[in-house]
Amino acid sequence: MNEISQQLISELAVMTPFSLLKSGKSTPVLLPFYHLVTDESLAFRSNYDYPSVAQFEADLDFLLKHFKPLSLGDLLKGGDLSHSFHLSFDDGLKECYEIVAPILKRKGVPATFFINPSFVDNKDLFHRYKASEIIATLKARNIQISLQRTYADLASLDEMAEEIGLNWESWLEEKKPYMSMEQVKSLVADGFTVGSHSMDHPEFELLDEETQLEEIRESMDWVNRKLKPEIKAFAFPFTDVGVSDAVFEACRDEGIFDISFGTAGIKREHFPFHFQRLPMESKIELSTKKRLKEAYMAYRLKRVLGKHYARRF
Ligand SMILES: [Zn+2]
Repeated sequence: MNEISQQLISELAVMTPFSLLKSGKSTPVLLPFYHLVTDESLAFRSNYDYPSVAQFEADLDFLLKHFKPLSLGDLLKGGDLSHSFHLSFDDGLKECYEIVAPILKRKGVPATFFINPSFVDNKDLFHRYKASEIIATLKARNIQISLQRTYADLASLDEMAEEIGLNWESWLEEKKPYMSMEQVKSLVADGFTVGSHSMDHPEFELLDEETQLEEIRESMDWVNRKLKPEIKAFAFPFTDVGVSDAVFEACRDEGIFDISFGTAGIKREHFPFHFQRLPMESKIELSTKKRLKEAYMAYRLKRVLGKHYARRF
């Protein structure tokens, strides 16, 4: 979305009451998602915003005041989901277990955690996190660099890490950024749901359809084998942009998952099993109310302006 329409959204959102923006039978169910919540500054996450504990609690309190929390099962059942929300968390970071889950339990909020089998138990690190850690390490030595940091650049990122003395194995052993399998199992025992987020978080738009399907199949298989979830849930890594209808149809026909998620904000989807989630960490500097008002206003404007704005972005 360009700058002018962002400004328009922001100004219209200010003028419109929240209760009006979120109402309407056809308005999609609210699906906010995060990655982590912490008061610490994490170098490997420095390219992404994340809320402090206080900000996250403020978000939750606002959500609970205006919406009813749903479990993944409630969401899948459907029915009247207006004024409801289902919360989720991507990437399986350890803060999900240490910080997020205790808060959710205290407030009685169900949630789904999407994990990458290749990273559980700190076996490896997501390529974007590797890039951020390399940049931060060099910055501490007064060296400023920019890096290509897609999945296709993984080999060169690893090579660079080695050159600057970053050993991922010992780094992972020391920092342990991800949840262990025991911690994931404990979330399940506490009633939370766990789904797959692909094996190792590639940009799907860089993969051909067969490789995309393989990532979905293999990671769902792993989650099914280890955790035996009642509902097979998949969240596309980054975004579902670049994923064709043929891939969704194959997933449906093979029964690879029961429900899937993208990250396009508040948006209705044509496959009944596929839902878009709202990235709560973007525009984190705004209050919860303002962030949500702008998201609903963007949805409404796109509907009014039609096809031109309805493209996935
Ligand atoms: Zn992710």
